[in-house]
Amino acid sequence: MHEYTIPLSRRVPQRLADELSKRMFFVSEAIESFELVEESADGTTAVGAVRIAARAPLDEAAMQHLLDRLVSEEIVPQRSVKAHRIWRSGQSATTHDDTFESMIDQGLAIGSGEGQFGFAEPFLGLISHLDVVFRTAAQRSFGAPERRYPGLIATEVLARSGYLASFPQFLMFAGRLHGELDSYKAFVDQVSRPAPAEHAGAAMSRALAVHSTHAGYTLSPAVCYHVYEQQAGTGLDTDLVSVTARGTCFRHESRYHRSLERLWEFTMREVVFIGSEARVLEARSSFMHEVFAIVEELGLAGHAETASDPFFCRAGAAESIWTQRLMELKYELLLPVAGGRSVAAASFNAHGTSLGEAFSISTPDGEVAHTGCVAFGLERLAYAFVCQHGLDPADWPDPVRRALADTRL
Ligand code: 5GP
Ligand code: ZN
Repeated sequence: MHEYTIPLSRRVPQRLADELSKRMFFVSEAIESFELVEESADGTTAVGAVRIAARAPLDEAAMQHLLDRLVSEEIVPQRSVKAHRIWRSGQSATTHDDTFESMIDQGLAIGSGEGQFGFAEPFLGLISHLDVVFRTAAQRSFGAPERRYPGLIATEVLARSGYLASFPQFLMFAGRLHGELDSYKAFVDQVSRPAPAEHAGAAMSRALAVHSTHAGYTLSPAVCYHVYEQQAGTGLDTDLVSVTARGTCFRHESRYHRSLERLWEFTMREVVFIGSEARVLEARSSFMHEVFAIVEELGLAGHAETASDPFFCRAGAAESIWTQRLMELKYELLLPVAGGRSVAAASFNAHGTSLGEAFSISTPDGEVAHTGCVAFGLERLAYAFVCQHGLDPADWPDPVRRALADTRL
């Protein structure tokens, strides 16, 4: 391993150290691991350098240039907004620190690649139960019909929604081979040569660079974009349309994947609201408080506070983060898990008219529709649940045990 200490031209204040950490692996794939180096000067402590480990030798000047750009364009412009805590569970948490390792040992979570897992009972049943609980709440309160959407989404839809330009680091595109006989033959010939183990790496990349094309679709990073696309170009006939759907979502989390806390592939339950500003905001708020009550009934400790999305690379990314926090456009439900950490198990989002405009959706009054969505990360929810209640269903709250027993009948 090659190690470097790269000085930063602009020191990063401590309050933004986490924002820097969250983006480091997206600066360059050459970075194998990193550590922020804090320095004290003029009575303040700030990040003055980054220690980097790389597998191959690095061009230090080029790396410093990349880091300086990241810091000056994406980190330092982030203005300070104090998190607004809007709820705290009455339950207190003791977390089991070995939960993930025990899940692997017991075969409850089966590693299937970077940030990817298969699951077995009783964890699977728990994921389904938590999904049913929140889906049922959405159906009861809003009559939200259940939908099922594909795992692929047209790349054009992600472009139209702004996702493509805001979160390029997460995208996982679907490719396919050129649809010509000669191309298939040449591809087969090229991939027949290396040993099978090389097929995931450089040899396959070389073959695909020549023989493949973008399929026009991307592995969907969220469920709700399907809903806006479906409503595109329509005038709503009521003040509030709500839909709920569960789907598999994909986000390339680089080296940030960790246990079940951060995955490349995960399952999301979404409840989507489209309508007038007042109805959408009211729906987000009332559903959010319903969710908090359910979380408490599930015996879970946690809290909810204002949050922002990891906008990246786009002009104005820092501004978007600031606006989101200041206007309270995103709240996250944070649940304690092993290791003294917390994960965002759900988010409650208001998008203003940006998606209504992008997809030409109007309210019965002829105004541009507002949209909002509530998204649950089911693996994260279930993982926080077992971190707090343990892996043995005998220790789970009675209503959960009863529901799981009923579904097994
Ligand atoms: P958001 O669109 O707010 O980023 O994500 C919605 C929800 O999806 C999050 O609150 C979280 O529960 C889940 N989620 C987002 N990214 C990941 C991830 O990398 N891994 C897992 N397990 N869940 C995620
Ligand atoms: Zn959404």
